[in-house]
Amino acid sequence: MSIQEEVQKRKTFAIISHPDAGKTTMTEKLLLYGNLIRSAGTVKGKKSGKFATSDWMEIEKQRGISVTSSVMNFPYDGYHVNILDTPGHEDFSEDTYRTLTAVDSVVMIIDSTKGIEAQTLKLFKVCRMRGIPIFTFINKLDREGKEPLELLEEIEQVLDIETYPMNWPAGMGKGFLGIFDRYGNQFVKHNVGDVETYIPNKELDQPEHQDLTSNPTYEAAKDELELVEEAGDQFSLQAVLDGEQTPVFFGSALAPFGVQLFFDTFINMAPTPTPRKSTEGIIQPDSPDFSGFIFKIQANMNPAHRDRIAFIRVCAGKFDRGMSVKLSRTGKVFKLSQSQQMVASTRESIDEAYAGDIIGIYDPNAYQIGDTLLEGNDKFEYDELPQFPPEVFKKVTAKNVLKSKQFRKGIEQLVQEGAIQLFRDKLTDSFILGAVGELQYDVFKYRMQNEYNAEVMFESIGERIPRWLKEGEVDESLFDGGNLLCKDRDGNHLVLFRNEFALNWFKDKNPKVELIDLFEVN
Ligand code: GDP
Repeated sequence: MSIQEEVQKRKTFAIISHPDAGKTTMTEKLLLYGNLIRSAGTVKGKKSGKFATSDWMEIEKQRGISVTSSVMNFPYDGYHVNILDTPGHEDFSEDTYRTLTAVDSVVMIIDSTKGIEAQTLKLFKVCRMRGIPIFTFINKLDREGKEPLELLEEIEQVLDIETYPMNWPAGMGKGFLGIFDRYGNQFVKHNVGDVETYIPNKELDQPEHQDLTSNPTYEAAKDELELVEEAGDQFSLQAVLDGEQTPVFFGSALAPFGVQLFFDTFINMAPTPTPRKSTEGIIQPDSPDFSGFIFKIQANMNPAHRDRIAFIRVCAGKFDRGMSVKLSRTGKVFKLSQSQQMVASTRESIDEAYAGDIIGIYDPNAYQIGDTLLEGNDKFEYDELPQFPPEVFKKVTAKNVLKSKQFRKGIEQLVQEGAIQLFRDKLTDSFILGAVGELQYDVFKYRMQNEYNAEVMFESIGERIPRWLKEGEVDESLFDGGNLLCKDRDGNHLVLFRNEFALNWFKDKNPKVELIDLFEVN
């Protein structure tokens, strides 16, 4: 098969959701359809063990599981499907955000009883700023949840994206009758035991369906759907691919109900690997030479060997095991002999890969997050990965002042590698770390001690709101000690506001000072 044919088969996506919305349950169902697992309940053996932040081995175990299952792939309907995991809970870190730079589309799962929750919103913002197409699955229709119209309105208002319901539910909870499939011109009827029967629209007026069609719940839903058809947005595949409109599906991942319907539609509509921006212009996914970028580095998966795995999103060409590639940043050439692919709970070696695929390669301590790897004589770098706004900030110091050299070296390297972000307080010049999740601190502390022999101490400065300032306009006198004025790694100024109130108060007082939110600008 040609490179172009291989690329056209790839569908690479992530599932984003707030914890407990049903990501794991959905993933399991998709793996079942893909024949990757035989029964549900085998994806993560995770929720059993309690997470002890002080115990690295626990983290290691925990991470080990989430790493090996961090990419799952299987054939479906003639496609080669890659699902990337986006860890949440205690595992939430910048890696979760960065994973979204490696996918071509995203499935957003919303719990119909809760609507949009905090983590969904954060991940959604990243998709939005990257223009990633978003498909929405509203889950748990088997329970009494919010009204479908209310949920659509919430998505449109909170997320500022057009919605287009691909199907429409009739009832919910105990009174759930099924869904109108607008796309397939049929009604998917819910029967005892969550069995689905498909009734084409033109057969709905036949007498055997009268029980269904005369049900007041059915009639009310039909009226609602007619209203949506008249007043709602028009479907536009282009708007979906541009990330401006989200197709919305309703169902239950657990039952499952409406899941296969969703997946069949999604897999056909979701984009195949798209051209990517680089310093030398647009790179086509079917160009002959291999290239890709590193979006995640997993360190210390095995403390005995201290091995590190770099995850590469293949963006073009063909990857062959044992091939030599050039690290664009340094020009150094590496032979990629230990390549791996992560499938469910096992690691398998991989011999070839194409645009859209994710491979894990052994990292001889040479790579950084965002690095571009190239075959042949090409010379370019893929667009830099964005800096994501941290939320948890801590002052960090060396426990032993005599070890300050190791301390500085360790911080410098870990920050370079992308494990955590570093800021310097303008007033005191102290080191302030910024992360999007606590896990990053656990990993940082452990690695400082084990790789650089530098014990560190943290002093929490709480959850802050970072806002960057426009360079050249920094008037230091405007900032008191409460809202810390800092510099980031690149020397840009930012302010760590104590809270929303302090931020708004500052905005009121200084309307002319432009404050930049990283979620908005990237
Ligand atoms: P995750 O944290 O997003 O991965 O969520 P899980 O898939 O682990 O689901 C969280 C809980 O919600 C579990 O107890 C699931 O059994 C349950 N759940 C998932 N989907 C549904 C659904 O469609 N209906 C109902 N009633 N429960 C569901």
